[in-house]
Amino acid sequence: MRTALVPPINGTSNIYQWKIASENVDGTNILGLVVFSAVLGITLAKMGPQGKPLVDLFDCLAGAMMIITTWVIWISPIGVLFLVASKILEVDDFEDLIGRLGMYFVTVLVGIVIQGFIIIPIIYLVITRKNPITYIANLGQAIATAFGTSSSSATLPVTIRCLEEKSNLDSRIVRFSLPIGATINMDGTALYEAVAAIFIAQIRNVELSIGNLIAISITATAASIGAAGIPQAGLVTMVMVLDTVGLPAEDVTLIIAVDWLLDRFRTVINVMGDAFGAGIVDYLSRKELQKTDNTEQTPTVTTLRL
Ligand code: ASP
Repeated sequence: MRTALVPPINGTSNIYQWKIASENVDGTNILGLVVFSAVLGITLAKMGPQGKPLVDLFDCLAGAMMIITTWVIWISPIGVLFLVASKILEVDDFEDLIGRLGMYFVTVLVGIVIQGFIIIPIIYLVITRKNPITYIANLGQAIATAFGTSSSSATLPVTIRCLEEKSNLDSRIVRFSLPIGATINMDGTALYEAVAAIFIAQIRNVELSIGNLIAISITATAASIGAAGIPQAGLVTMVMVLDTVGLPAEDVTLIIAVDWLLDRFRTVINVMGDAFGAGIVDYLSRKELQKTDNTEQTPTVTTLRL
């Protein structure tokens, strides 16, 4: 189900006359699944020993999925190679393509690099006092998969594995924050949507005031939250951003030619943003986690003594 503000038939630009409409769209409702899983988890915890069979079943399923993921990870470099190669072969004239949209492409790329390799690592370093370069190196497999698949959701199992096994984060934090992050936290997409809307406005000779720029930033952030973690989802939600400055939805075609490539880079940053977020939450929650571990251990000891 997708809900959005839509203009009435007379197409007025006064948004106070717009209506809220809903429509059903195909695809997995990831946010719904995350919310349901969280509610089910809380309920099972509340049920205590009665809920244990179901907890064991899920534990066993998660273990099996992780083994399958290991096999997929082993062959992923070959998959990624062919995925990217096939896309590059589809382009007739690569130089011409980058030339036409060159500055736009470079601007998004520079923004993405600053966000992913400077801003987020600095936040991580300041909060956790741990080395962000090692953290990024541990994410190598997830970064390659994100680049190859252009999908944060498809990369999710690989990211979980990298954080649990290489960065040694607590699986309770990883498995709770990463699915939420992969669905709603998209730094790369937000950045790209804002740059793309400004680029399109410049091509169409639309003057943008400071107010317009602020509105673009806010809607780009909202649109990135609404985008699914699948290839080129950001291109669809960008219609919302274009609308903010009165540009027609069809204008996304101006950037469509390079979008498949930019999508790979922004997906990498989306995945890195989620991973660093999980790292920070893990660090900030370590005392609570320890407390929970201690209280969970006490009854077991009592039971054994009994
Ligand atoms: N492909 C991106 C992701 O999965 C979403 C997008 O920006 O299109 O994170």
